Amino acid sequence: MTAIVELEHIEKRYGAIAAVNDVSFALQPGESVALIGHNGAGKTTLFKMMLGLSRPTSGDIRVLGDHPAAGEFAARKRLGYLPESVSFNGALTGREVLSFYARLKDASTDKIDSLLERVGLTAAADRPIRTYSKGMRQRLGLIQALFGDPLLLLLDEPTTGLDPALRLEFYEIVQELQQQGATIVLSSHALTELEERASRIIILNRGRMVANGSIDELRKLAGLPIKIRVTV
Ligand code: ATP
Repeated sequence: MTAIVELEHIEKRYGAIAAVNDVSFALQPGESVALIGHNGAGKTTLFKMMLGLSRPTSGDIRVLGDHPAAGEFAARKRLGYLPESVSFNGALTGREVLSFYARLKDASTDKIDSLLERVGLTAAADRPIRTYSKGMRQRLGLIQALFGDPLLLLLDEPTTGLDPALRLEFYEIVQELQQQGATIVLSSHALTELEERASRIIILNRGRMVANGSIDELRKLAGLPIKIRVTV
């Protein structure tokens, strides 16, 4: 099986700071992976390297079989990314924003209606985004990441600011996408939020990977028979 993402001894330095320090892992097709760590752990830096927005200082990174920062990264259109905070021009309607993103990815605009329906935004599609709730904006953000049928979906702290019901709703959509074969990477500060949802958990602490495994493996590692509480 060809890995969707492969990182080998990745290091990213900003001057004296090692934002990512000797991190290696591989993600297989259809996995859902939780990237857990406190502020400054290196989650966004890893996302940026997977997206090709930033090059590692050393080490090798391959995404969909290629180097993401290379000029000719043919698989770029098969990546979907939802940043930690996504802001839209409030004067535009949801449909207008989606048309823009579809064109950006050379994707057909035919899918807009079905995507809007999938996340419950059909009735709001032609209203300006300034009238949307935080949850609606986040669901719109998720749709923009879905153009081009992404093989890899990178979601950076996607549920920040959402209440528990909206979080649940958001994760249900993400789970559907995974069941359809996408590889999903979700980042969060809290392990508890993702422990039952991710097939694998990677814990980062100050740039270093301190755990990588299924929740059961991590529980065994921690020697805890019941619920895990990993402090990073
Ligand atoms: P958060 O949960 O706050 O988003 P994070 O886990 O995403 O945190 P990163 O944003 O990857 O963490 O940051 C990792 C470390 O690298 C931090 O110490 C941060 O200050 C530093 N860092 C990130 N980007 C830069 C940059 N462009 N220049 C200098 N330092 C940076």
